[in-house]
Amino acid sequence: MRLLSKLNHWLMFDVFMLALIVAVVKLSGLADVSPGIGLWAFLALMFASISSIASYDTHGVWDRYSSVLARQQLSPGAVKGGDRLAESGAMGRTGLTRHSATCNTCGLLSDCHPSVESPVCPRCDDTLHPRKVDSLNRTWALLIAGYVLFIPANLLPITITTSLFGTQPDTIMSGVAYFWHEGAYDLAIIIFTASIFVPLLKLLSLTFLAWSAQRRMTWESQQRTRLYRLVEFVGKWSMLDIFVVAMLARLVQFSSLASIEAGPGALAFAAVVVVTMFAAMAFDPRLLWDPLEKNNCSGENRD
Ligand SMILES: [Zn+2]
Repeated sequence: MRLLSKLNHWLMFDVFMLALIVAVVKLSGLADVSPGIGLWAFLALMFASISSIASYDTHGVWDRYSSVLARQQLSPGAVKGGDRLAESGAMGRTGLTRHSATCNTCGLLSDCHPSVESPVCPRCDDTLHPRKVDSLNRTWALLIAGYVLFIPANLLPITITTSLFGTQPDTIMSGVAYFWHEGAYDLAIIIFTASIFVPLLKLLSLTFLAWSAQRRMTWESQQRTRLYRLVEFVGKWSMLDIFVVAMLARLVQFSSLASIEAGPGALAFAAVVVVTMFAAMAFDPRLLWDPLEKNNCSGENRD
């Protein structure tokens, strides 16, 4: 269950499907392409797995497990969130100031006093962290790596096409231009959005979020949290171009007639996407709310 919750970020059936369509359109200029049974099977697999994940109730399963644990009395540290909130009168305050933490895996609220060394979740045994460890340091390091890699990702060719007419290296931008000139405006816009606009927007948004958390800004925490959710949601769609390149490089091997190879830009671009996904995971959105809590507490003291 713990592994599943971590793997969820990397499920990209939908992105892969769109990449398949782009690759087929790109291939249709070179050869006749018709869908085989495997394509329909893959479509069915995509819908089946996405809907099975969507209907799988993780918290429901954990709740059933914890009722088994309660019967065996193996869960001493667990706190019933609502009861505890009501009796301490701490409703509306963060867990950090109440010395309790929500488990990142199973969602159980447990006691997490700073005096306890490396506390673990009584239900799923995962390590409890009131805030992600070294969140800002890790986010900054990954963001800087992302910016550095973004340069070769856009300047170096991501595909090298060899045909009877010679060798032609293509960068991301020249790929977009190709579709635009061919009249496939929708595909040109999709690739531009997924490969240039989204990765750059993601890097800039995360930089702003990390900077504002570091400065302990209290401005528009709700809007900044929404921005973080958006960044998490769109992240995987940047993998589109990488899937297209991977498929084309495998499929187009017509010996002397034509072949497509992945260029060094593809590796850099894949690294940008993965590094920014890790940066988004390393960032703790609760840091956006902590300064507000400090202000509330000092307000209460004054009263
Ligand atoms: Zn847990």
